[in-house]
Amino acid sequence: MSQLERPDRSTALRPLPKPGIMDIAPYKPGKAHVEGIAHPLKLSANENVLGSSPLARKAFVEAIDQLHLYPDGRSNLLRAAISVRYGLAPDGLLFGCGSDEIFQLLSQTFLEPGDNIIQGEYGFGAFAISARAAQGEVRFAREINYRIDVDEVLSLVDSRTRLIFIANPANPTGTVVTGSEIRRLHASLPPSVILVLDGAYAEFATDPDFENGATMVRDFKNVVMTRTFSKLHGLAALRVGWAYMPPEMADAVDRIRLPFNVNIPAQLAAVAALGDEDFQARSLALVSEWRPWLVQQLGGMGLAVVPSQANFLLIGFPTTPGRTALEADAFLSARGLIPRVVAGYGLPDHLRITIGLEAHNRAVAEALDDFMQGKPA
Ligand SMILES: *Cc1c(COP(=O)(O)O)cnc(C)c1O
Repeated sequence: MSQLERPDRSTALRPLPKPGIMDIAPYKPGKAHVEGIAHPLKLSANENVLGSSPLARKAFVEAIDQLHLYPDGRSNLLRAAISVRYGLAPDGLLFGCGSDEIFQLLSQTFLEPGDNIIQGEYGFGAFAISARAAQGEVRFAREINYRIDVDEVLSLVDSRTRLIFIANPANPTGTVVTGSEIRRLHASLPPSVILVLDGAYAEFATDPDFENGATMVRDFKNVVMTRTFSKLHGLAALRVGWAYMPPEMADAVDRIRLPFNVNIPAQLAAVAALGDEDFQARSLALVSEWRPWLVQQLGGMGLAVVPSQANFLLIGFPTTPGRTALEADAFLSARGLIPRVVAGYGLPDHLRITIGLEAHNRAVAEALDDFMQGKPA
């Protein structure tokens, strides 16, 4: 319904949501189940296939004695741990129920109706939802070779632009914008525009030209870096994300944050996970070993794999009947391997697959080889 046809909410016969809410497409998570298969392997959400750190698990269990208590609303233990680990000023840190909440807080704090955000063409859905909930407009910058293009982003900036969300590495493409390109983007922005660098997969990036943005946060007044415990640290269930931003920005955003947004088991497990260097190293090693292997295997089958700097691959399928992404999804699912359908991200001919354990990766490669050869599932 267009702006003009909107009914008068005060005389409506039932309560109507404010304009824009019903235009938001509900977020559709990746599949977690396959009918008729008892324990399929979920490779659709980029979760840590090693599970979570034994130290984090122990901390979570020990938190059982504190279930009657409200958490520390400032997440001070976690704040100190992150500050020390990454050398960041504690008053620039902000914690959220996943980084999803941080995106929402940023949109709520900085957008008013008519303002806009910019994100990549295939960008992560959470940015757009947060902006639309704040009655902001979402602008999608065309990507070139599945990579966010700085000039395309800049061409969309106008006087109502408040936030630019760049997931780096990006999801679902896995590509990165190099540090020098990010700096060029920043240098061309008005100082009133916030550049949000979502580093959900930052730890997996091995490209020497990648930069996570922490130094830029320190050096400028309009850069935010977000991070999460959901991927490398394997704590997606606990919902812990954080952001590093200029202290005056944190002071503003913190005013609308729910006071107890990160629960006690989550805070304690996150602190323990951060200290478990061994688990982090094993998780990274798995991806750095199997990512190139899988790229090579799939490339050899004629599939178009997008070069990834994250813990997943975006795979392009032919449009020939029998070889399409949709059919590949059904084929893999029938073998108990669940990929992420990314048609909702504007990529109907692709599937996204999390890098798994050795056996998982071999099963994926074998299944896709059979699929491409037209064998039965
Ligand atoms: C998984 C992911 C996140 C992390 O979200 P949480 O709410 O912290 O679990 C953030 N950004 C992108 C692009 C992601 O893929």
